[in-house]
Amino acid sequence: LFVTGCKPIKTNLPQILFPFCFMKKSIILVTGGSRGIGRSICLALAERGCTVLFTYLSNDVKAGELITEINQIGTGGAFAYRCDMSSLPEVLALAKRIRQDVSYLDAIVNNAGIVGDGKPFLFATDEHWWDVIRTNVGSVTNTCRVLLPMMIARKAGRIINITSLSGQKGNAGQSAYSASKAAVVTFSRSLAKEVGRFGITVNCISPGLIDTDMTRDISNEYVANRLVWSPLKRKGGADEVANLVTYMLCDAPSYIIGQELTIDGGLGVS
Ligand code: NDP
Repeated sequence: LFVTGCKPIKTNLPQILFPFCFMKKSIILVTGGSRGIGRSICLALAERGCTVLFTYLSNDVKAGELITEINQIGTGGAFAYRCDMSSLPEVLALAKRIRQDVSYLDAIVNNAGIVGDGKPFLFATDEHWWDVIRTNVGSVTNTCRVLLPMMIARKAGRIINITSLSGQKGNAGQSAYSASKAAVVTFSRSLAKEVGRFGITVNCISPGLIDTDMTRDISNEYVANRLVWSPLKRKGGADEVANLVTYMLCDAPSYIIGQELTIDGGLGVS
């Protein structure tokens, strides 16, 4: 590290600034890790030497491929769990398995989510509404309800919840999705206030339009219309979101609490 005009700093500053990844092998749970943004987060954390635990809904093949890839690039190892994060009984069973596999968790990334069918509110079914809310909100609250005690016991931990620009601005055809993501933001702020005194930080990362399976079916015309005023005029990469998540987990000061960081190529300000 070179800082012009300064002598080399001989303190334990790195340990203060880099509380997890640089002090020891961190153990991190990523929900919805089998594809898209979650997958990129798992790979980025593996590159930093973390032990990566991830969940997925049903895609055994993708989960298996990811385990192989993590083991090729990282030294921390990986565990995959098939679990519907929107179901509290399933998350309770997951916690049992996690406790058998690892003795603690340094961080949780609540990433699992669905976007819904794109229909306007009055054309979408009530079942669809609750499916999106249960998945996007329930998966976050279930994880926190069941796994936070592990972090509180150790008086340390970081939680990142993946929200969305749609939760800030709303989006036609995405009323349930937008409402669910906005709910996660205020839930996260409240939780941050409750658990900060235990050394646990809770923050959100809010991506704009990211190139994953979730956005691949959206028509080119819709994407072009959305991006027309944005400075970069392109979708973001899952790896770009993963870099921000890794920064927040491994490098960011623990003084950042209850925030929603937007990563959208300027879409939200244009
Ligand atoms: P993908 O559709 O590519 O991947 C979704 C992941 O979540 C998969 O691993 C899937 O597992 C898992 N999953 C879905 N439902 C459940 C469930 N009930 N329990 C456990 N796992 C589940 O999505 P993205 O990577 O695009 O999105 C990831 C997160 O980022 C979501 O929360 C999304 O809302 C958010 N986001 C995405 C944006 C984008 O433009 N892509 C923009 C803003 C936010 P499986 O493979 O088994 O199906």
